[in-house]
Parts: sequence; structure tokens; C-alpha cells
Amino acid sequence: MTQRIWNFSAGPAVMPEAVLDEARENLLSLGSTGIGIMEHSHRGKAFLKVYEETEALCREIGGIPANYKVLFLQGGASLQFAMLPMNLLSKERTADYLITGAWAEKARDEAQRFGGVHAACSSEDANFSYIPGECAYSAQPAYVHFTSNNTIFGTQFRSEPTPPPGADLICDASSDIFSRPLDISKYGMIYAGAQKNLGPSGVTLVIMREDLIERGHKDLPAMLQYRTHAKNDSMYNTPPTFAIYMVGLVLKWIKGHGGLAGIAERNQRKAGKLYAYLEQSRLFKPTARTDSRSLMNVTFVTGNEELDAKFCSAATKAGFDGLKGHRSVGGMRASIYNAFPEAGIDALIEFLRQFEAQNA
Ligand SMILES: *Cc1c(COP(=O)(O)O)cnc(C)c1O
Repeated sequence: MTQRIWNFSAGPAVMPEAVLDEARENLLSLGSTGIGIMEHSHRGKAFLKVYEETEALCREIGGIPANYKVLFLQGGASLQFAMLPMNLLSKERTADYLITGAWAEKARDEAQRFGGVHAACSSEDANFSYIPGECAYSAQPAYVHFTSNNTIFGTQFRSEPTPPPGADLICDASSDIFSRPLDISKYGMIYAGAQKNLGPSGVTLVIMREDLIERGHKDLPAMLQYRTHAKNDSMYNTPPTFAIYMVGLVLKWIKGHGGLAGIAERNQRKAGKLYAYLEQSRLFKPTARTDSRSLMNVTFVTGNEELDAKFCSAATKAGFDGLKGHRSVGGMRASIYNAFPEAGIDALIEFLRQFEAQNA
């Protein structure tokens, strides 16, 4: 078999090898059913068991209270940018958005189609290199939306912002969901495309409080109402069965690593090593402000675009893939989600050191 290389892709991203092995086992026959996991009816006993186990694991690992629904939807986080305001915003109301990067802006832009929008804060003044400390909320926001980890700019909220009394906190957690312990009861809704921390692309996890689901507008197409999916356990139409199965395997893998507490410790250690190296490097430096640095996406530059390009091409040749930064930041980005192995961080640091010795 071809040797696997170090994959720093921002998404879809590296999966745990044990998960891929188990999936391979079940491609031709799920257990002893004689039917592969992708070929089972979503109404059949075998898949329903997969679904129930996946939801139960999600509830267990995330500590999800009973008054929250767990939904597995399609359309990515990008559909949630629209579906959320479509359900919960109206022309008479205003929703507050914390503008901490390109994804936050996309979410806000969609909301503008359905009602008023207020920027409670923004870090655009410094190319989104930090998480603002203060927010100025509108009088009675329909909800407050933030992006817990800014995939492109390499910044991450240390803790949840505090919305004004009575306003529900909504979070796009696409790039750091289940990377650390979280208190679901602080949120009205959390959503995440699976392809960074949870599994393959094609499924979006939505965790939403039941009263918010019920508050959603009723004059929308059925597929765009949360209640439709909540009433039908995400099986109003054919759900992304294989992607849900894969999320279940990833959740089992997280549980095996000590749940969210264990995974958080591992993520701290991984990112900690890389930032510690970058801090003392004479060539490379992190782009995000120290107090705002992401444990998931580590962005850094040499300060010289030609040298950045030289590094990226040398890295690719040496078996480190996907390190080129997003064009809006430039430089490099190491995406090191839950599943990225610690040995790959050590190998990257060694490679950075060599490049520094030859080029500083
Ligand atoms: C990747 C990403 C998205 C986009 O997700 P899709 O599933 O491709 O729509 C949205 N928000 C954040 C924070 C992301 O990292």
C-alpha cells in the first residue's frame, strides 16, 4: 500500500487511521449482514442501530442535555449560515454577529437577507489576527452568532462570549467542535460541518435547544425547517448514511482517547509544541495574537513571500502536504485537528528547524 504522508489539510482533513481501518472492514459487509455500510437502507434495522449509537455517543461525549436535539443535516455549515436566520430572524428583528473572520462574514451576509444584522465586534482592523475582548450588543438581539475557531486566520475563542440576558448564543464550531470540553447549556445552537473534526464531508452536526426549534418560522420549505428534521430524527429524507456512520466511528475514537478532556489535553500538547518552536524561531513567526491563537489551525509566516513559497514547495517534497496558508493571510497554515497525529507535529518541527538552519 502507498505510504500515508503528513496531511495538514484545512478540510476535508486527516482521519484517525483506526477509523479508516474499521470502515474498510465494513465496506463490503457491515458486521455479518452481507450488505456494505453504504448499501443499507436508512429505514433498515442495521442502519438504525448505527444511527442510534452515533447519536447516543454524541450525547455522551458532548454532555448534551435532554432538551437539545442532535440533528445530522446536509448542505454543510454554509447552509446553516442561511437556515439559521431563515428560521429565527425576521425583518423586524436584529441578530448580532461577532465578526472574527471570513466565515463569520459569510454567516452575517446570509442573515442580512432575512432581517437586521448588527456587528457586535470586529477584528478586521488587524486582518482578523485576534479575538476582540469587548462586544457592543444591540438592544434585544434575536440571537448572538459567533465562530469559535477561525479556520483561515488561526484564531480561537478561549471561552464563550456572554450574550445579553435573554439572547441565545449560536456557534459555528465547524473547525473546533469536540476538540475540548464544552458546556452545551450555554448555547441555543451549535453547528459544524463534519469534515474538520468529526468525519468526512457531507454531514453537518446541529445541536439545538428544542424551544428554539419550535420558534422557527413555519412558512418555509419543509427541508429548511429545523422542526422537520427534529420530528423525523434526521430521516425526513435520505440522510448521508455513510457520513453518519463515519462520524460514529470518530466519536468512538474520541471516547477511546479520554473523551473531550483527553482530546483537549492532546490538542494542547500538539499546538503547544508547535507554537513554542515558532516563538523562539529566528525565521518563522505566528500571525495570530498570543492570547487568541488557535489550537486547530496554526498560521505562521517568514515575513518574506518568496521564502514562504520556497518553504511550502520544500515541505511538499518532503511529505508535508497542505501547509500553504489561505490567500487572505499568506504564509503557512498547519491544520492540526483532533485526528492529526502528534508524531506529525514532531516531524514538522524537525523540518522547520532544518529549513531555518539553511535559510535564516
Ligand atoms: C470550513 C468551514 C465552514 C464551511 O463549511 P462547509 O461545510 O464547507 O459549508 C464554515 N465555517 C467554518 C468555521 C469553517 O471552518
